[in-house]
Amino acid sequence: MTDSVQLVTADVPPVTLTVSRATLVAQSKVFADLLSLPVGDSAPPSLTLTETKAALEPFLSVLAGQTGDDATYRTLDFLGWQTLAALADKYDSPIVRHAVEAEIWRKLLSGKSPHEALSLATYTGPPSLIKAAALTAIKLGRKAGQVILAPGWEDKLANWLVQLRHIASDIAVERAAFTAQCYGGKWDRCTCDGMTDLSRSASWQALLFGKLCHFDPVIPFTATKEELPGICIPHQGKYRMQVDSMNSQYNDKAPKFPA
Ligand SMILES: [Zn+2]
Repeated sequence: MTDSVQLVTADVPPVTLTVSRATLVAQSKVFADLLSLPVGDSAPPSLTLTETKAALEPFLSVLAGQTGDDATYRTLDFLGWQTLAALADKYDSPIVRHAVEAEIWRKLLSGKSPHEALSLATYTGPPSLIKAAALTAIKLGRKAGQVILAPGWEDKLANWLVQLRHIASDIAVERAAFTAQCYGGKWDRCTCDGMTDLSRSASWQALLFGKLCHFDPVIPFTATKEELPGICIPHQGKYRMQVDSMNSQYNDKAPKFPA
């Protein structure tokens, strides 16, 4: 029995790629199934695929164990990576998924392409990586449809984000009437610059409204010095304690990331 398999591509005219059967079987669960069917023992078995040679070659290079910066798949552009990620999923190949995951981290850690990282992650998972990429992309102003996600993910993310926003809004409304009190002790004396309870209240509510408008799903509420102009340090401390407790309330209520 021969160890090679012929893969017939979807190019016009079709191209035949000769690939090691052992490699396909070891590195792809779908190919393992396809090749477990009895075949004649004369010619190498042949499989007709729906991908082109250009799409298959990077995939096969990962399967064959190519590594390093010169590997065929390392020079892919984003569309090429997207194709590779989709093939990792379609042919259920842990080694290809792993190569794509490494690229996702490269994109996330470089800080240059979180949106692309998110797209790739929705094809390969795992959910923890999709979540990390989603939060980074959202924080950097992701717009729906900006890059194509794996089927179903655009809706999943949108629904999740709506739920998070609702939770944050409810908390903000609940705490909108909060008034920070200084009691005039030695370490607690108000030195606010011409502010009254009323004007501090207005600043607090404006701060909360701003937080909902520029929603950060990781830490929805903050109260930094810059965000509280004219407000004294003891008062700032009270607002800071308030937002800390709001953030933990938010984290307790936040729904699980969709898997
Ligand atoms: Zn004060």
